Amino acid sequence: MDPLQTSIEYLKGVGPNRAQLFREELQINTFQDLLHFFPNRYIDRSTFYSVAKLPQTPTEIQLKGKIISLTTVAQKRGKRLVAKFQDESGVLELVWFRGIQWIKSSLQLHQNYVIFGRINWYKGHPTMPHPELELEEDFQQGVKGLFYPVYPSTEKLINKGISQRLVQKLVASLLEKTLGQLGETLPQYTLQHLQLISKAEALKQIHFPASQSLLSRAQLRLKFEEFFYIQLQLILKNLQRKQKIKGHVFAEVGTNFLTFYNDQLPFRLTDAQKRVIKEIRFDLGSGRQMNRLLQGDVGSGKTIVALLCMLIAMDNGYQSTLVAPTEILAQQHFQSLQTLLENSSVQCALLTGSTPNKVRNELHEKLQSGALHILVGTHAVFEEKVKFHQLGLAVIDEQHRFGVAQRAKLWRKNDIPPHVLVMTATPIPRTLAMSIYGDLDSSVIDQLPPGRKAIKTLHRYDSNRLKVFAFLKSQIESGRQVYVVYPLINESEHMDYKDLMDGYESVSRSFPKPQFQISIVHGQMKSEDKAYEMDRFVRGETQLMVATTVIEVGVNIPNASVMVIESAERFGLSQLHQLRGRVGRGSDQSYCILMSSHKLSEDAKIRLKTMVDTNDGFEIAEVDLRLRGPGNLMGTQQSGVLQLKIADLVKDNKLLKYARDNALELLKKDSHLEAPEHQVLKRTLVRSKFHKNIWNFIS
Ligand code: ADP
Ligand code: MG
Repeated sequence: MDPLQTSIEYLKGVGPNRAQLFREELQINTFQDLLHFFPNRYIDRSTFYSVAKLPQTPTEIQLKGKIISLTTVAQKRGKRLVAKFQDESGVLELVWFRGIQWIKSSLQLHQNYVIFGRINWYKGHPTMPHPELELEEDFQQGVKGLFYPVYPSTEKLINKGISQRLVQKLVASLLEKTLGQLGETLPQYTLQHLQLISKAEALKQIHFPASQSLLSRAQLRLKFEEFFYIQLQLILKNLQRKQKIKGHVFAEVGTNFLTFYNDQLPFRLTDAQKRVIKEIRFDLGSGRQMNRLLQGDVGSGKTIVALLCMLIAMDNGYQSTLVAPTEILAQQHFQSLQTLLENSSVQCALLTGSTPNKVRNELHEKLQSGALHILVGTHAVFEEKVKFHQLGLAVIDEQHRFGVAQRAKLWRKNDIPPHVLVMTATPIPRTLAMSIYGDLDSSVIDQLPPGRKAIKTLHRYDSNRLKVFAFLKSQIESGRQVYVVYPLINESEHMDYKDLMDGYESVSRSFPKPQFQISIVHGQMKSEDKAYEMDRFVRGETQLMVATTVIEVGVNIPNASVMVIESAERFGLSQLHQLRGRVGRGSDQSYCILMSSHKLSEDAKIRLKTMVDTNDGFEIAEVDLRLRGPGNLMGTQQSGVLQLKIADLVKDNKLLKYARDNALELLKKDSHLEAPEHQVLKRTLVRSKFHKNIWNFIS
């Protein structure tokens, strides 16, 4: 057996009780786990604070001095032990609430100690609760290296006496014991090429760095390794899927596509759209199932790309489905496809939760006979009773609303799964996309159709509402339409609903009938009422649309050129960007006005400023990632790959790209890892089958 897989229990100084704590509190089971339990920071052990100059921040500090007295103080809930600690500059109180007997019996008065802990300020009075103590003599002989590693810990561990010093000692002894047995986990040429230090050296330095520069090199090596193995796994998964999962072969581009492309296309495709269609076409003809993510900012023209792909499917005798996250969106997609396909023989239908049974039954029949070519719908199309004659392509719009599980359902409908194209208008930062969707192929439409005027974004305070309303009037007078959006963070939240109704009242007062007509749409309305209100706005019968975020995605009304977002500070960046994308779809100058109160948090200020400064969705996504961290972004929660131990998606984004490119190149040359120099990778990866955390198998 691999000695590193030895249970932590058998490390000298651990035993069954502590082993249990390590397992439960830190998920450390084996020697291997402890070696890869990285410090989250370091303390320069050559630096000592003095009592006269204690820091105001709650960081851990070191002091050198003597304990000059010990008293037990009775208090309401139990006792506390207070020690007076003195250095050359003054006296500090140390306090214990637990383990009093033990401390009392082991502390030696008037001896030189090094103490370590956090300062607690209470009414200008500093104390250090539960410090770690060590006789200076022992300290001097203690851990080698210039820095103290500080490891993640928990309340329970501290209470049970698992101190930093103890963990340090355990790690140090484990390192000593195992360092000679630690093999390399990256190919030699990779190490040389990237000038990375060896695995053994990296582990030694990450725990007990001899210098700042060695610490940096250890971090670099381990971060690279973490990214590299994740990418290697993701890319391999993709390759394997391509080898294993057969796909329908769409060998040719036929009359439906060509007729549409040559005669019915209402505009010229942008270069980006053409490139993306080529990428998709290649997949569709390859005989392997396509799993492609199509990213394109709002308004970049993803719908037409979807349609052209669906026409290719049809040319090859297959049906397609286009699935949207909401009823309104499905309806809109259906309408725009209807318009685009006006003069063609393509049969297209809509299926949503509110499709009447009679219509539905007819539709099921046509679908099963193959008379229907394209089915547009909501998740209703995933239902078991919906059966296709021959489903070849599923296009899923707005990925983040759908779980992966739902996507998988589609596959079960046929022996050979349909090709899947997932479209998203929420630009995903490159680093995040590489990590979450690293096993999908991806295409990006990074260009807007020509002739679009950049949307002008302004930030206005609520106190300027009258001016803003006057501006809206002038826009309406020149024929434009206006959205006024209220936050409805939680559909059931009464408060939000009230905000919307109050807002509606106030808009109604300022824009009185009959001169002005107002539509209102919110989540608590029945879907036919929503559709009716939407419809009036689409047809231009109403000039203002007061709504909650239900209009967030996809809605396309070119004449609506002003978007007012109320309480904009309450929206997240990606939501603001999505909302703004509702305007700027026609030829007129469009505006987005962000209304807010004067009270803004620092983050809110950055969000609003970012919106005012840029229209670029990818740039906005990067800021969002920096503000919120990867774990809080939409769709990332399910993703295990984000539980990184040492690398940081935001700070180390260049390294991630580097690691991915490296893995790609390596697998391009040796996709089965057969070369002798790649055996080390293969061995390491084999272990991955049993472990979730990447470091459990990299050894
Ligand atoms: P999204 O990517 O947000 O789904 P849409 O597909 O709804 O964008 O397209 C937005 C608008 O741009 C639509 O009105 C569409 O007809 C138009 N459009 C798409 N591609 C082009 C193009 N190449 N040239 C001009 N207009 C285009
Ligand atoms: Mg769209």
